[in-house]
Amino acid sequence: MPEAAPGCDDFDPSAKTLEQARAAILEACRTITQSEQVTLEEALGRTLAQPIHARIDVPPAAVSAMDGYALRAADATDGACLALVGTSAAGHPWDGELQPGQCLRILTGAVVPAGAELVIMQEQVQRDGESITLQNGGLTTGHNIRGPGSDTAAGSPLYASGQRIGAAEIGVLASQGIARVSVLRRPRVAFFSTGDELVPVDQPLGPGQIHDSNRHTLRALLSAYPVEVLDYGVIRDTEAEVSRALTRAGADADMIITTGGVSVGDADHVTRVLQASGQVGFWKLAIKPGRPLAFGQFGRAHFFGLPGNPVAVMTTFALLVRPALLQLAGRDATEPQTLNARLLEDLYKTPGRKDFQRALLETDDRGWVVRAAGGQGSHQLRAMSEANAYVVLPRESSGARAGDWVEVLPFREIFPEV
Ligand code: AMP
Ligand code: MG
Repeated sequence: MPEAAPGCDDFDPSAKTLEQARAAILEACRTITQSEQVTLEEALGRTLAQPIHARIDVPPAAVSAMDGYALRAADATDGACLALVGTSAAGHPWDGELQPGQCLRILTGAVVPAGAELVIMQEQVQRDGESITLQNGGLTTGHNIRGPGSDTAAGSPLYASGQRIGAAEIGVLASQGIARVSVLRRPRVAFFSTGDELVPVDQPLGPGQIHDSNRHTLRALLSAYPVEVLDYGVIRDTEAEVSRALTRAGADADMIITTGGVSVGDADHVTRVLQASGQVGFWKLAIKPGRPLAFGQFGRAHFFGLPGNPVAVMTTFALLVRPALLQLAGRDATEPQTLNARLLEDLYKTPGRKDFQRALLETDDRGWVVRAAGGQGSHQLRAMSEANAYVVLPRESSGARAGDWVEVLPFREIFPEV
């Protein structure tokens, strides 16, 4: 593998490291404190604003865990013959008290009647008209019975505030008869693309034009988070248009995400407008892809000016916008977990920036192995579809060789499925 020639590197001392950028972003993006009441249907993916305690025992009464016969413990002897006195089915309790020598037909989820202390499964008895003979004695009290509160006891703490509401939580809340919950307000995220070359997906391309893909990617990425999206479309490369869009977004949104126009070219107005009318946190990052990235504040909104190149958009979103969104939404913005894999081919890189190369992570008989996926240009978005992970090469590295152990960031850590 050719070493980079001395002096021929990509090192810019004024560029922020990923870790510095992440820390600055998490420092700035404080959790939203307003809350609102939503129904369970609206609660998926939201963050609880208040702790919740169990209101009732679940199950509310002792119920049978299976189809069988309920009896007294003293009667549970091998070969005992018991009189069948009725049936308890789910939703149709038997009200009476079971006497010695009696049993009750009982179905899964049905209330265990007073006097009954265990349920024997139907396969372990011989039924003969209105009596049963036990083929298996020695069962003890509570056998096959789900006690009241054995899932959740009334009054016990269920969830702390800050809990993400997933499918299981929705089920638990429903089982408690809790139809509405108090959750944090969703951050409002305004986003737009910038570029005179951009054409909507449903219009044909003229000379020099490309379809605006970033806005669609962004919308898809955002759909995994509890956010309200404000799509401002495509903004032309003029200072006036960029300024107008940012002013509107800075009044409407908690976060603004733009793509393109953050370099220092003549048509790059985003940083200029931010400098003039907002606050710029930083705009050079020592990562690849994603060097020009603006972070700051515009109006009341946190501002992310992502680069224009589509792979850089996805990468900077995953590494820097994701933790900001999680924290705004009241969730832990824990660092994604990387793993080590053996590299199957040489990878090249210039020292100076931490590199996130698109890669295919697999297992073979030696464990995790990884290879490059598709082209590594920051415009080569198709490689993102072919890849399932990034190989993360350190800032000072000049590449890695086949057989080396390398750090890998699986996409599932940073691109959650919706
Ligand atoms: P910029 O950062 O504006 O200089 O854009 C960098 C590259 O990304 C250029 O090749 C742009 O044409 C391309 N690009 C910018 N915005 C988009 C977009 N919304 N969709 C697809 N490509 C884009
Ligand atoms: Mg542009």
